[in-house]
Amino acid sequence: MRFRRLRLSGFKSFVEPAELRIEPGLTGVVGPNGCGKSNLLEAIRWVMGESSPKSMRGGGMEDVIFAGTAQRPPRDFAEVVLVAETAAREELEVVRRIERGAGSAYRVNGRDVRAKDVALVFADAATGAHSPALVSQGRIAAVIAAKPAERRMMLEEAAGIAGLHVRRKDAEQKLRATEANLARLEDLMAGLD
Ligand code: ATP
Repeated sequence: MRFRRLRLSGFKSFVEPAELRIEPGLTGVVGPNGCGKSNLLEAIRWVMGESSPKSMRGGGMEDVIFAGTAQRPPRDFAEVVLVAETAAREELEVVRRIERGAGSAYRVNGRDVRAKDVALVFADAATGAHSPALVSQGRIAAVIAAKPAERRMMLEEAAGIAGLHVRRKDAEQKLRATEANLARLEDLMAGLD
C-alpha cells in the first residue's frame, strides 16, 4: 500500500483545510519548532485508528480538535482523510471524523465502517497506527529500549500478520458463543428425553 494524499481539517493546529501529497519513497517533515510536524504524523496515525489519546499527546480524544487561539474560535470537529493506493492499484480513501460530544466515525471509500474494519484494512497491508514505518521523535530510542514482546509486535506488524491476531480473537469469541449454544441445546434435548 502506498499513501498518496493526506487532507486535514480542524485537526490540531491545522484549522484550515490542508492537503499534502505524499510522494513515493521516504518522506521527512522539516520546519521550525512548533509548526506542526508531529501533528502531521499524528494525523496519519489517527486516521488509521489510533485509540490512545496519550499517544496523540492529549488527555482525551477530542483534544485533536482545533482548540482555538486568541484570534480564532475553536472548531466543533476534526477530520482527516488518507488516500492510498492498494497493492492491487485500487484507490482507497479512509476518513475519520470526530465531533465534540459525538466521538469518532470512520468511512472507507464512502461507506460507514467500524474502527475495527479500518484497523484490519491497514493491518492486512502491513501498516497501521503503530507501524514502525512512522518514525516520530524519540521512536528510535524506544525501539532500542523495547522489551522483547514489544519488538515481536513490531516485527509482526512489519511482516503483515498483525491482522491475524484480531481475526483470531474474533474467531475465539464466536467459538465460545457456539459452545455455549451447544451446551444449552444439550440441556434442552435432555429435557425432551
Ligand atoms: P517541535 O519541532 O518543537 O517538536 P512540531 O513542528 O513537531 O514541533 P507540533 O508538536 O506538531 O510541532 O505542533 C505543536 C503546535 O500544535 C503547538 O503550537 C500547539 O499549540 C498546536 N496544537 C496542538 N494541538 C492543538 C489543538 N487541539 N488546537 C490548536 N492547536 C494545537
